[in-house]
Amino acid sequence: AATQSELIWFNGEIMPWQNAKVHVMTHAMHYGTSVFEGIRIYDTHLGPAGFRLTDHVQRLFDSAKIYRMNVPYSFDQVMQACNDSVMSNNLPSAYIRPLIFLGDVGMGITPPIDAQCDMVVAAFAWGAYLGEDSMDAGVDVAVTSWQRLAPNTIPTGAKAGGNYLSSLQISTEAKRNGFDEGIALDTNGLVSEGAGANLFVVKNNKIYTPPATAAILKGITRDTIMMLAKDLGYEVIEEAMAREFLYVADEIFMTGTAAEIVPVRSVDRIEVGAGKRGPVTKQVQSSFFGLFNGETEDKWGWLEPLKKS
Ligand code: PMP
Repeated sequence: AATQSELIWFNGEIMPWQNAKVHVMTHAMHYGTSVFEGIRIYDTHLGPAGFRLTDHVQRLFDSAKIYRMNVPYSFDQVMQACNDSVMSNNLPSAYIRPLIFLGDVGMGITPPIDAQCDMVVAAFAWGAYLGEDSMDAGVDVAVTSWQRLAPNTIPTGAKAGGNYLSSLQISTEAKRNGFDEGIALDTNGLVSEGAGANLFVVKNNKIYTPPATAAILKGITRDTIMMLAKDLGYEVIEEAMAREFLYVADEIFMTGTAAEIVPVRSVDRIEVGAGKRGPVTKQVQSSFFGLFNGETEDKWGWLEPLKKS
């Protein structure tokens, strides 16, 4: 596979990538009992730096807490594992995938109360998720027939393996129908998010995004963009939005760690604004990517330089 490296961190040890194996009876494989993160390491003016690494690790622990998973490592150990997964492979930039899962704990749906989780941290090179040219050309999206999870079924605020069956339905339906990506409505019929990215709408120079109650994962990129946009002088409004708001938007863009900031040029084959990346999207993109070469001042301490391991 393209997304692989030489070494990987597995249950406390750095080992050859191909040695990190689990049994076929792994609980997580049967029941989706895993929580994970996606984190980017950028090659910055300060050297390789994790982007909001601490915030991602906090969300990982929060996801584990929501599912009452026992994580056999401290916060600092997980931070160190993330660091080492990149540094041991000498990667100047990387995507890191920490995963905590229920392994060989038996086949009961409810794991034994003292069951310890397994943990892996993989780091590998990964370019633009929706393709390099999508960053300025934009993508064509569709609102899919699959809705996002209802809040009283599976919590979308936890980044858990099982949630991605929903993302898979949303994304593959869109792709089968010739679109680049899908957008889901929540079970109230309001705009939620993409398969693996949050959504922003620009209308009359104001920036809107669905609130946490719209069955979204509260993305760290979403939070970053809200802060950067406010810093640029924009009013940023978290507000429930109906599907048709997307059709009359001036600009739309999607955000996520893997996706970064991707302009949306059409929704359901209706052109968004001028049908190409708009000026606000472009400004927000340059502000975001400027963090990694120092052009945007990192007032928030988001860049966390890695340490030689
Ligand atoms: N929503 C979903 C469903 C996601 O999987 C992701 C990617 N983690 C996001 C939103 C964006 O979150 P973040 O900006 O923290 O990567």
